[in-house]
Amino acid sequence: QKQLCFKGERVMWIQPTTLKELVALKSQYPSAKLVVGNTEVGIEMRLKNMLYPVIIAPAWISEMNAVQHTETGVTFGAACTLSSVEEVLRKAVAELPPYKTEVFQAVLEQLRWFAGPQIRNVAALGGNIMTASPISDLNPVLMASGSKLTLVSNEGKRTITMDEKFFTGYRKTAVKPEEILLSVEIPYSKKGEYFSAFKQASRREDDIAIVTCGMRVLFQDGTSRVEEIKLSYGGMAPTTVLALKTCQELTGRDWNEKLLQNACHLLAGEMDLSPSAPGGMVDFRRTLTLSFFFKFYLTVLQKLS
Ligand code: FAD
Repeated sequence: QKQLCFKGERVMWIQPTTLKELVALKSQYPSAKLVVGNTEVGIEMRLKNMLYPVIIAPAWISEMNAVQHTETGVTFGAACTLSSVEEVLRKAVAELPPYKTEVFQAVLEQLRWFAGPQIRNVAALGGNIMTASPISDLNPVLMASGSKLTLVSNEGKRTITMDEKFFTGYRKTAVKPEEILLSVEIPYSKKGEYFSAFKQASRREDDIAIVTCGMRVLFQDGTSRVEEIKLSYGGMAPTTVLALKTCQELTGRDWNEKLLQNACHLLAGEMDLSPSAPGGMVDFRRTLTLSFFFKFYLTVLQKLS
């Protein structure tokens, strides 16, 4: 296969064949858009009148489409489509002990309600992350689970954890312009670790979320005492966020009704919205952050018993 390049009057489209070529192109054109499914970029160009003069398509690069089962989880090349992610995780859930696949099951739950099959068949995992939409369905799951992102540029590779520092502003990330998201590792869960994801939309299927979340708790060995907890929300701020203060306060506590009451009180304070917040439905969205936690509380309680 040879690198392709189409030059039009306004746009140049380049399709490299190796990672080396891709990295060199991104360093040459740092503001170029990487396009896989085109389900975000296409809409921006067609409906929002955005112009991206250089487009790079990484679909042919094998590293960007690879799937690897590692010691700690499953690593997907950033250009893997959501349908292929779904297929791999479904197989992993069927084959592995359930305690290891709590996060995978939550990703599958989000994918079940993510767009329609036409979109999932072309849209990439990397595209969802890099679009950095505050209402992404997958980013709260990746953030709460501490999924690992490997970035590559001319300078080499670096791996970062998706945490509260990854999204730096509305549709902005900590990824540098000359960097490319190479792969995403979704981790196995451990014994004593539980994970859920919830999405509320106006319509169940193929609809943009109003609020969405990923929630993880790890208990101290053989107890119901919280060792670590991460609650990540979409739709409550200009970026996907972690309820850091609430999580800090709940650490070390027992999973009981007192914790539930306290968590609701803390979340109501931390997941606040101004009455003029974009998107409206302020009271409903604030209530959803608590109802999701309530569902998570009950789900975990049931698994603990
Ligand atoms: P593209 O449009 O190809 O690219 C998106 C952005 O990511 C671009 O800025 C691109 O430069 C950047 N990018 C892509 N790959 C890389 C990389 N490897 N490194 C660096 N930058 C990169 N989203 C949801 O969360 N939930 C939904 O339910 C949902 N439903 C949708 C329904 C419809 C009808 C449509 C049109 C979109 C929907 N989306 C939804 C949004 C969209 O489909 C997803 O965000 C999708 O994952 C984007 O992937 P893509 O490959 O199409 O991105």
